[in-house]
Amino acid sequence: MIFRDASDIVLDDVFVELAGFVPEAEVYLKLEGFNPAGSIKSKTAVALIESAELEGRVGPDTQFIESTSGNLGIALATICAARGYSLTLVTDPNTAPAAVQAMTALGADVVRVDTRDAEHGYLQTRIDYIHNRLAVEPNLVWLNQYANPANIRVHRELTARAIHEEFGDLTALFIGAGTTGTLMGCLQYFGEHSPATQIVAVDAVGSVTFGLPTARRRLPGLGTSRRPEIFVDDGGFEKVVVDEPGTIAMCRRIARRYGLLVGASTGTVLTAVERFAPTLPRGARVVAISPDLGDKYLGTVYSPSWIAEHYPSLSAVARSD
Ligand code: PMP
Repeated sequence: MIFRDASDIVLDDVFVELAGFVPEAEVYLKLEGFNPAGSIKSKTAVALIESAELEGRVGPDTQFIESTSGNLGIALATICAARGYSLTLVTDPNTAPAAVQAMTALGADVVRVDTRDAEHGYLQTRIDYIHNRLAVEPNLVWLNQYANPANIRVHRELTARAIHEEFGDLTALFIGAGTTGTLMGCLQYFGEHSPATQIVAVDAVGSVTFGLPTARRRLPGLGTSRRPEIFVDDGGFEKVVVDEPGTIAMCRRIARRYGLLVGASTGTVLTAVERFAPTLPRGARVVAISPDLGDKYLGTVYSPSWIAEHYPSLSAVARSD
């Protein structure tokens, strides 16, 4: 396969079976971590930049700015390097150091906000920072993944279609909710092409997207402290929330059992598959989307000392597994 440049690479057909994961169903993981920037966000990043180009928002002095918990930032930095754009990324203390290093290595200007917002997260603080800069810098263009319909469209046209082409009318599809771009895109596509497929949206305990109370979260990827503008809850999907200890224990189990070092949100989504499986019909075939791999989580999910510090109740698991 020869691609035009790094921004043109999309690996949308990598699936792996998790044999014996649950007795009730065949379970397949859609691995997005082999995309160029290491996550599902490489597709989102191209879509956001191309929507700005198509809308005529890009001139010779344009500087892009975006708020990111990690993966979108690495992806945008990849695309902007390949296409010659300048980029500022607004991160927070939950962004993995390896992610910040990758963004910087790819030439982005990385800013970190340190003040928690009223919902125990940092998103509102990151967005306030962007608004302050937009007010005084006319060349700055905010890509705004939380409100940009391109974030839905790209998953409808690529991610969802790739799953449907591989599996046809599967029983259930499990999707983590961050900006909810993946979720909304898959809901639209499967609603049109395979309405019998049950869509299960998975979020972290402490996230506000499903209307539940906020709480402190330490792992980036899923969840938000401010409901995304693109999220529409029409009741046509199931919702499951998983806490961080559940996520961590599942990631560690998957690594040992299947040789797949997956990212945190994959552990969250697979915990939901395990909990949901008893309600599935016999012979069910399900797909779970794995947004990234575990390399960026070696200092958290896969670190016994980090677990001992933040989740001491899991320490025994971390030592013995
Ligand atoms: N998992 C990881 C690791 C992510 O980086 C993201 C994006 N923030 C998601 C899941 C959620 O994807 P989406 O923004 O499309 O809801």
